[in-house]
Amino acid sequence: MRINLAVYSCRFLLLTTKNTDSNFLRVLQGICGIKNVHPGSTNESYGKDEATKKNYSFQYLVKPSNEGEIAQIVKACNLYGIPLTPRGGGSGLAGGASPVKGGVVLSTERLNNIIRISTEDKFVIAESGVVTDELCKAIEVKNLYLPVRPSSAPVSFIGGNVASNCGSINSLKYGSIKDYVLNLQVVLPNGEIIWTGANTSKNSTGLNITQLFVGSEGILGIITKVVLKLISKPKYEYTLLAEFSTLDKLYNAIISVGSSVLEPSALELVDEFSSNLTTEFLSGTSSLERSFSKAMLLVNFDGNHQHLMEEKLEHCFHLIENLASGEVLIAKTEAEKEKLWKIRMNIGAALSYGNRIYRDIDIAVPVSKLLEFMSSIKRISNQFNIKVACFGHAGNGNLHTMISVDNLSDIENPNFIQAVDQIYKSGIEMGGTISGEHGVGILQKKYLPLQYNQAYLSLVKEIKRVFDPNNIINPGKILD
Ligand SMILES: Cc1cc2nc3c(=O)[nH]c(=O)nc-3n(C[C@H](O)[C@H](O)[C@H](O)COP(=O)(O)OP(=O)(O)OC[C@H]3O[C@@H](n4cnc5c(N)ncnc54)[C@H](O)[C@@H]3O)c2cc1C
Repeated sequence: MRINLAVYSCRFLLLTTKNTDSNFLRVLQGICGIKNVHPGSTNESYGKDEATKKNYSFQYLVKPSNEGEIAQIVKACNLYGIPLTPRGGGSGLAGGASPVKGGVVLSTERLNNIIRISTEDKFVIAESGVVTDELCKAIEVKNLYLPVRPSSAPVSFIGGNVASNCGSINSLKYGSIKDYVLNLQVVLPNGEIIWTGANTSKNSTGLNITQLFVGSEGILGIITKVVLKLISKPKYEYTLLAEFSTLDKLYNAIISVGSSVLEPSALELVDEFSSNLTTEFLSGTSSLERSFSKAMLLVNFDGNHQHLMEEKLEHCFHLIENLASGEVLIAKTEAEKEKLWKIRMNIGAALSYGNRIYRDIDIAVPVSKLLEFMSSIKRISNQFNIKVACFGHAGNGNLHTMISVDNLSDIENPNFIQAVDQIYKSGIEMGGTISGEHGVGILQKKYLPLQYNQAYLSLVKEIKRVFDPNNIINPGKILD
């Protein structure tokens, strides 16, 4: 009843007072309560995500508590012609949650209930605003496992993970979040509410609308509930770390381990620049195994049989021992593993220490092109005199190419822009994709025509128009 009244009253106000700001505010307050509607001017942190250092100004921050309220907000935005930007944890690295056209920011933070974890059906049903780490912990209490857990899990939301099709360090073995989404509840831009799939492990019924929403970055509607497939949690996870004196040797180790029968869950590289920078950043803390100055490879194995795990470690050691430089380190306990992963997990912090900032590019290339791609990045960085840290998901050919600068204005420098353009061009020429896991947002949209032809781009625009003819939901993103 409250839903109908709110929509009805917003129509009435529109007719009698010509779309004034205060009327729109009252409509929003009528829908989700005065205390859940805030002025944008006093909530600046919602005006950006982790990609853009710039705050975009917007009118209102709304914090609805359920899909019914969201449906009414969307209808009101359509009626008043006000843009709406959906927001999860705001940890995105493509600018997707930045309200570039102002209007309303819709935070899903109050949709934070885990509805059901089924051990028989091996799925979880959760609202989209549940913090990823909290969801993973609740799942693991039941001896189940959601293997795709991004490094941002303490702050990201599960709805944001699905909307950006996130990956994680063990995507090599387990894929991206798209491989776990069974069903989604979505509020469409016209305010209708749908379920996109079924809570079954198999479903061959009709168009795969579920996957259309995975990675749609909030431009087609607002995800309000997710149903995710779960697996059994492996009992053991071991880590191996090796250093390499040249990129060639590191690459040969990646190919050798990645194409073996060993099935590592993670195969992550850290280049020499990142290794040195982060060792220096962490120096003085007692948390490092030792200091590192060369490029390194981290390999994870997981499984349920200890003797098989030992065999895998030994096999892996033999594959890389002639390529590696110095001692190969192995970690089996949580404390040991944390020490070995410390450098890899702190590169972003090292790169943003003090006033430093970075521009993250997350191109993925076929693994066979990884050496060529890294050599090309090196060439470009020398040519344009820029500092680049390369690290990440080597097993997937998905690198974080982070260009380090001293301040924001450097990013607008034509020399910097040319270097970035060259890196994208080079990755695409090698058969790569613009984004392996962060999405397009505003940061990477300029490069879409490098990867897709005009017919593809027009089709995407048409799909957006079908869902959102008034271009209300997350305008300015992907192709807009
Ligand atoms: C330190 C750090 C580590 C990171 N590590 C990883 C990593 O390991 N793997 C990885 O893939 N990414 C990583 N990221 C990037 C980011 O965390 C992921 O993209 C994450 O999935 C974003 O989730 P979020 O809830 O913060 O989404 P937001 O940033 O809030 O939003 C992301 C996009 O999804 C849309 N959106 C959000 N919620 C909804 C919803 N309910 N319905 C519809 N659209 C919605 C937004 O409009 C936006 O376009 C990292 C970022 C940081 C800062």
